[in-house]
Amino acid sequence: MDFKSKVVVITGAGSGIGEACVREFASRNAAVAMVDWKAGAGEKTLSELRQKGGSVEYFQADVSSRVEVERLIPDIVARLGSIDVLVNNAGIQRYGSAITTTEDEWNEVMNVNLKSAFLMSKYAIPEMVRRGGGAIVMTGSVQSLSAQQNSLAYVVSKHGILGLTRSIALDYGKQNIRANCVLPGAIDTPMLRWAASRDSHPEKVLAGCDRLHIRGTMGRPEEVARVIVFLASDLASFVTGAAYAVDGGLLVPAGGMAFQEAGLGAEKA
Ligand code: NAD
Repeated sequence: MDFKSKVVVITGAGSGIGEACVREFASRNAAVAMVDWKAGAGEKTLSELRQKGGSVEYFQADVSSRVEVERLIPDIVARLGSIDVLVNNAGIQRYGSAITTTEDEWNEVMNVNLKSAFLMSKYAIPEMVRRGGGAIVMTGSVQSLSAQQNSLAYVVSKHGILGLTRSIALDYGKQNIRANCVLPGAIDTPMLRWAASRDSHPEKVLAGCDRLHIRGTMGRPEEVARVIVFLASDLASFVTGAAYAVDGGLLVPAGGMAFQEAGLGAEKA
C-alpha cells in the first residue's frame, strides 16, 4: 500500500488513533494533513516524521465548526495540493442516560462526533470529485452497532456515523468515492485512560477492558490505524459502505452472552 502523491487528511490527529493514522500513512509516503483543535497536539510525531523526510502539515481547527471547516479545506488544498483521503476520526466521550445527559452535553457530543464528519465530508467531497475520486474512512465504534450503559449521546453519535458512511457511499459511489467505517473495541488511548480515570480504581477498569477482547488485551491505536489505511487504499477498491469491526472479537459473544446467562449451552453437571 503506497500513498505516494496522495494527500490524506486526518481529524483528531494529535492523539490516540488519529496520531497512529498519521504515522501509518506517512510511513507509506502520503502527504498528511494533521487536523486537531489543540495547539501543539501531536507535535512530537510531527517533528519526528519531518526529520525522517515525511510530508506532514499541522492544521489547528475545531472540526465541529462550519466556519472553521469552510476555511480549513481550502487551506489544506492550498498547502498540500489536493485531498485524496479523508479520515473522520475526531471524537469525544461523555457519560449519561436520557435523564442525566444535559442538552449542552448532547450538543457537544453530536457536534464533535457526528457533525464534524458531515462538515468535513461536505467540504472535502467536491475536491475529491474534482480529482476523479477519493476515499473516506470514519472512526465509528462497536457502539455503532451496540449500546453501552450510561453512554447515550456517544452511542447515538456512533450509530449516526454508520448512517453517514452508508449515505455517502451511496450518493458518491458513481463519482469514484468510497466511504467506509471502522468499529474499534477498547483501544488504549488517552480517551480510554481518561474514561477509566473517572473510576476510583482505574487499573481495575483497564483490566476489565482487556478482558473484553478474545486475546485478553485491549487494542493498540496502530492496530486500528492499519485497517483505516487498508480501507483508504486501492486494495479495498471493492469495499464501500462497509463497517469493519476492529475489536479483537469483542462483538462476537455479544448475543451469545445473553444465552449463556440464561443457562443455554452450559456443560452438564
Ligand atoms: P483521543 O482523545 O486520544 O484523541 C482524540 C483527538 O481528537 C484529540 O487529539 C482531540 O484533541 C481531538 N479532537 C477532539 N475534538 C476535536 C474537534 N472538535 N476538532 C478537532 N480535533 C478534535 O481519542 P481516541 O481514543 O484516539 O479516539 C479517536 C476516535 O476513535 C474517536 O472518534 C473515538 O470515539 C473513537 N473510538 C475510540 C475508542 C477507544 O477505546 N479509544 C473505541 C472506539 C472508538
